[in-house]
Amino acid sequence: MDSQQLPALVLGTNSNIHQTVFSCNGVNNKRMTRLSEAELYEFMQSIIAMNPDIKDPFYVLDLGSVKCIMDQWNSKLPKVRPFYAVKRNPDPIFLTSLAMLGSDFDCASQAEVKAVLALGVSADRIIFANTCKSEAHLKYAASVGVNLATYDSPYEIEKIKKMHPKCALLLQIKVGETKIGALPEEVIPLLRAAHMAHLPVVGVAFHLGTAVRHPEVYCAAIASAKMVFDTTVQLGMPKMYMLDIGGGFTAGPQFCEAADTINFALPFYFGNEQSLEIISEPGRFFAESSFTLVMNIIGKRVRGSLREYWINDGLYGSMTNMLNDPNCATGTIKPLAVESSPDNPTCHGLKTYQSTVYGPICNCFGTILTNYQLPELNVNDWLVFSGMGAYSSSAGYKFNCCDTTAIRTYLAYSKRGEPSMKENKI
Ligand SMILES: *Cc1c(COP(=O)(O)O)cnc(C)c1O
Repeated sequence: MDSQQLPALVLGTNSNIHQTVFSCNGVNNKRMTRLSEAELYEFMQSIIAMNPDIKDPFYVLDLGSVKCIMDQWNSKLPKVRPFYAVKRNPDPIFLTSLAMLGSDFDCASQAEVKAVLALGVSADRIIFANTCKSEAHLKYAASVGVNLATYDSPYEIEKIKKMHPKCALLLQIKVGETKIGALPEEVIPLLRAAHMAHLPVVGVAFHLGTAVRHPEVYCAAIASAKMVFDTTVQLGMPKMYMLDIGGGFTAGPQFCEAADTINFALPFYFGNEQSLEIISEPGRFFAESSFTLVMNIIGKRVRGSLREYWINDGLYGSMTNMLNDPNCATGTIKPLAVESSPDNPTCHGLKTYQSTVYGPICNCFGTILTNYQLPELNVNDWLVFSGMGAYSSSAGYKFNCCDTTAIRTYLAYSKRGEPSMKENKI
């Protein structure tokens, strides 16, 4: 199969997810055509050309990126089992590819547990990592056999005892600025309370918040977790065996720094713990770079040297994150000028202008980009936003015209997964 024939899969509600992802090979050791960056842009052009009248925004989910990022995880943190935090992006094909690449899942609600089980993933690959679960959700978890959850309050113990008495627990401890987690003085009462309720506390969890900037904090957090392990022994309770180091990872050099810190701290603090299971809850790390959002230019204005453009998905749709999340916009923004520059749609070498880009909503929050250099574009050209997978489709909600849940997703497989793909060739 050459790249021209790469299947452009539009995901309908009836699509058979497993078959779709398998037929997309590359996942699960199958061979497939891999696209270079230029080919990826050609692929987007082909999607646009296929339906020239459709100007709706669309996503490209790059399974090559998913594979690449999983390889990075496995090479840097081979002893840490990832439970992908579904809340970041619950796209079913994305979840399936992660499941097939060996990831397990951190679910925060009944709906997320359902979505993961629907992929055929077994319940023992799910952690209910929400320290405040409703009774109904706990009852559901019990009924499907999701038997591992976090807690940080005695009220949670009461609910779990009542609704899910077979659940094993991780005590969530507070580290840094996050609102979740038990304070140091609450640890002993919380361990005792669970013990009294006959609920086994099998380990400790922490989450340092998103996009952790100072990886040293993993070291301090692992040290705090070890103190809780020791406290359990002093209290005469069964020995803990599970450590959950949470999420907070971003792709790139920061990931390597975090991994180095963790790989130093684990043997340093837990070197004498035989058969320790180490798990984690990365969300952004897997989701962010895997999705690209392609949006149509629906309006233009020229004022002197300034170019202003309106695109058809605004801050209240997929781009809510740009408004709320200072860590967002790690990706790139590139033109796809299929209308005004069909022979050179990526506009290589063309003069650029100071540009402002607005979403379709007429209020002062609608600005997506300011002072951004773009070539001269026109209505019906497109803008390609990479790195849009964290939050974008799950955080968007219906507002004006933007129903982000309705945005189509196409699959591609870029060459980013190249090096390790060679090992998998058949
Ligand atoms: C949101 C969340 C995560 C994932 O965070 P990322 O920054 O996406 O890695 C992990 N654990 C908990 C408890 C969370 O709330």
